[in-house]
Amino acid sequence: MKENKQPVDFIKFLGTAGARFVMIKQLRASGGLWINSGGVNVLVDPGPGSIVRCAKSRPKLNPSLLDAIILTHKHLDHSNDINVAIEAMTEGGFKKRGVVFCPDDAVSVDPVIFNYAKQLPGKIDILRPLASYRINGFEFETSMRHKHPVETYGLKFKIKENTVGLLCDTKYFKELTGFYKTDVLIIGVVFSKSRPEVEHLCLSDAEIIIKDIKPKKAILTHFGMTMLAAKPKILAEDLTQRLGIEVIAAYDGMSIDF
Ligand SMILES: [Zn+2]
Ligand SMILES: [Zn+2]
Repeated sequence: MKENKQPVDFIKFLGTAGARFVMIKQLRASGGLWINSGGVNVLVDPGPGSIVRCAKSRPKLNPSLLDAIILTHKHLDHSNDINVAIEAMTEGGFKKRGVVFCPDDAVSVDPVIFNYAKQLPGKIDILRPLASYRINGFEFETSMRHKHPVETYGLKFKIKENTVGLLCDTKYFKELTGFYKTDVLIIGVVFSKSRPEVEHLCLSDAEIIIKDIKPKKAILTHFGMTMLAAKPKILAEDLTQRLGIEVIAAYDGMSIDF
């Protein structure tokens, strides 16, 4: 596993912004993740600017090559560009192709996917807790429902021989550890200090999770204002030292190759 660009088997961070203020001010980009596993392309959580981040990526990422788009939940920092991403995946709606995976409340209650956009992909597949999905040979599992204000699921999948976990927005609860036992664990860490009244992870939650899971590599992302102020890179280096586990802080445009 090394950290430079390759055409297949990679995860590219099109954004590392977490929650409202870092997103609104675009202190970090909010484009989500582009996953390529064995040539299958999946865009996860296309937040504001995702379509721009794809076009500006080096090398360029072409959304008309997407096999799927996955929404972990409908919050704006994850879903803002979902409709335009669907248009891009379906070549402006002229090619009925690709699958959109999302929780039920992203299309039912106060939906974030427009009715016309629902007709464009090959299929809309509703995410359920602890279920398995498959798209063109790419398999992924959903977590238990996260503790977050809207219906939210994290993901687990494989790239080559490595298991990868995407632990997105949630309040900490101990059962997370059981599901997210993976080689490469991506964790959304919004706060540097605990704020139990808000359903997000803070740095000490992430530390407990990483210590329990002992992944080969942990990647911190989805930073809020307090994390940025405390400098994620330094915090990650400190965790690496203390835990003896490689912990890195994601940056916009970072690509992890497998
Ligand atoms: Zn979020
Ligand atoms: Zn959220």
